[in-house]
Amino acid sequence: MSFESLGLTAALCRTVADKGYTAPTPIQTAAIPAVLAGRDLLAAAQTGTGKTAGFTLPMLQRLQASTPSGNNHKGNRRAVRTLVLTPTRELCLQVMDSIRTYGKGGQLTATAIFGGVSINPQISALRRGVDIVVATPGRLLDHIEQRTLDLSKVEILVLDEADRMLDMGFIRDIRRIVNLLPKARQTLMFSATFTDEIRGLADQFLKNPESVEVAPRNTAAETVEQVVHRVDKNRKREMLSWLVGDGNWQQVLVFVRTKHGADKLTRQLNDDGLRADAIHGNKSQAARTRALQDFKSGRTRVLVATDVASRGLDIDHLPHVVNFELPMVAEDYVHRIGRTGRAGRGGSAVSLVCVDELKLLKDIERVLRRQIEEVPVEGFSIDRSIRAEPLVKPRAPRKPRPQGRNNSQRQRNANPGRKRRA
Ligand code: AMP
Repeated sequence: MSFESLGLTAALCRTVADKGYTAPTPIQTAAIPAVLAGRDLLAAAQTGTGKTAGFTLPMLQRLQASTPSGNNHKGNRRAVRTLVLTPTRELCLQVMDSIRTYGKGGQLTATAIFGGVSINPQISALRRGVDIVVATPGRLLDHIEQRTLDLSKVEILVLDEADRMLDMGFIRDIRRIVNLLPKARQTLMFSATFTDEIRGLADQFLKNPESVEVAPRNTAAETVEQVVHRVDKNRKREMLSWLVGDGNWQQVLVFVRTKHGADKLTRQLNDDGLRADAIHGNKSQAARTRALQDFKSGRTRVLVATDVASRGLDIDHLPHVVNFELPMVAEDYVHRIGRTGRAGRGGSAVSLVCVDELKLLKDIERVLRRQIEEVPVEGFSIDRSIRAEPLVKPRAPRKPRPQGRNNSQRQRNANPGRKRRA
């Protein structure tokens, strides 16, 4: 199967060839013709499957092939023709990156809209006029409230990682936004999991969609080698440093459950002589971007992340993922290990499991429908006299917030029912 045979223009095929892609991934094979044909799309695809190119390439082609349906009410500036909604700033920037890469040489303009940074440059960009807006819901609503954005001419809506947007409590924001869009539009929805809630959302927002499922629900990437190391809680850090050092691991993404835990572990790893940095929701956007760049370039060896902050991180050839702590929600394990073994490459996912987490491990194995191999590490025998203690539960969901607050309050209140925003 070639990109040409999917109906993409010669220019777009050259661009993907320049990127080094020799053949489309399964999600691309299924999604590109459907999107080019103007169909709505409901796609079950995790990060790492090539889904971003799967919607970006045909979306660009459709926008390039047609003229806008009209200018917006403010006169001659370009009307927003495509809106891509993403749950996190990182994913927003990554989608922008793809649009820039695949759209280079074309006439279309795009801008990213997300919180945690000044709103003014975003207002200026919107005033100049853009064809494509890639946004997180909170900041997008700030623009809508300030009337700096007109969505009345949107032709294509993309909901990326819709399941995560629901997890993060964005459902009301999404409904408000979608209500502002023209009814006659093309809608593409991507989600790693197909819960009843997601299907309900699809029923509301999509018309006669083409359904595409590339990885069976909740199946961890098969190219990822998964192991569990049993360890006492107070020796996890020692084991992690040993594994990284002894295995000569040069690029390791480590997951913890809390922001505080991420900072503490980062300090300890640096004390152990391993260059480490943390990425979580309390860090400024600039600090998060820098941490990611340093990690990608090899300046730091270990990146310690919380689940939400890591969502959508796109790191080529990431060889090692470590679950320093298991996630409270079993499905998050699948997302975490999906960071490695991407686009068919091998990778390893190691989970350090203490006695408190044995129940979480069982939950994960139930979701995976298989056991993860347990491998003892020499010198780390476990103390069987230690009894399990309860893990701190995520906070209960808060009451719905009143409308019209500023974005930082909105972000804080976007508190997921199932887990904390980290
Ligand atoms: P995504 O699932 O969109 O986050 O993409 C995961 C990774 O796969 C990205 O690093 C892409 O650059 C890469 N990728 C996307 N399409 C292809 C392809 N057809 N062949 C090889 N790599 C790809």
